[in-house]
Amino acid sequence: MSSETDFTLAVEDLTVSFDGFKAVDGLNLYVDRNELRVVIGPNGAGKTTVLDLICGKTKATTGSIKFKNHELTTLSEHEIVRAGVGRKFQTPSIYENLSVYENLEISYPAKRGVWGCLAFKRTAEIDQRVREIATEIFLQDSLDMEAGLLSHGQKQWLEIGMLLIQDPELLMLDEPVAGMSVKEREQTAELLNRIAKGRSVIVIEHDMEFVKNIAHKVTVLHQGKILAEGSMDKVQNDPKVIEVYLGH
Ligand code: ADP
Ligand code: MG
Repeated sequence: MSSETDFTLAVEDLTVSFDGFKAVDGLNLYVDRNELRVVIGPNGAGKTTVLDLICGKTKATTGSIKFKNHELTTLSEHEIVRAGVGRKFQTPSIYENLSVYENLEISYPAKRGVWGCLAFKRTAEIDQRVREIATEIFLQDSLDMEAGLLSHGQKQWLEIGMLLIQDPELLMLDEPVAGMSVKEREQTAELLNRIAKGRSVIVIEHDMEFVKNIAHKVTVLHQGKILAEGSMDKVQNDPKVIEVYLGH
């Protein structure tokens, strides 16, 4: 039976098995609007696979993924992006030979063709949006720089910007601060706290100091199942979590 939900994202009984091995096993996950959820867990727990399932890169064996009450498991990756789901992979995929400005510009969502003064208006609109996003991601002074020359952290921010310009209602980030300096991590925490307003954000992360700075709620995954869920405090003091994850 399908039920209506107020959650932006409602994952129910989600399972994927690869040759009989259940990488995700009967998962239930509910994420609210304005919520920033962090998913933690040991390597191989199934964290990345959960994001693969939500964005349609991997097809579920059984279960349901509802985004604003629309079933995603039957949609293609492309349709899921258009529905308003943005996903950032672990390694940044930006166009190294293009400028920061051009990277953001080409990520602006395509609409119906427009001509004449409408086209002019649209150009101005895109220009304004590109500058707004560049400011959000701390790259307002690097618009003309070739993206390949950015620091690793700045490349991560640029890719977040390329997703933000599409204004997704659900944004998923896989280990966004890996390889970042302490200062960049602090700035990224500030950025994520800002962008969670008005949307839902799911972040996979290992850096517990960073998790503390951003998480509303934490979900701990282990062997494809939820081991614990709740506030950072609750999860950190959970003996099961300490045993399989934090203790190491
Ligand atoms: P995490 O991100 O938590 O480290 P993953 O989701 O990447 O874990 O992987 C969970 C498990 O599923 C691992 O054992 C991994 O080898 C396996 N797995 C992931 N994707 C596939 C796939 N496409 N085919 C087979 N096994 C996979
Ligand atoms: Mg992973």
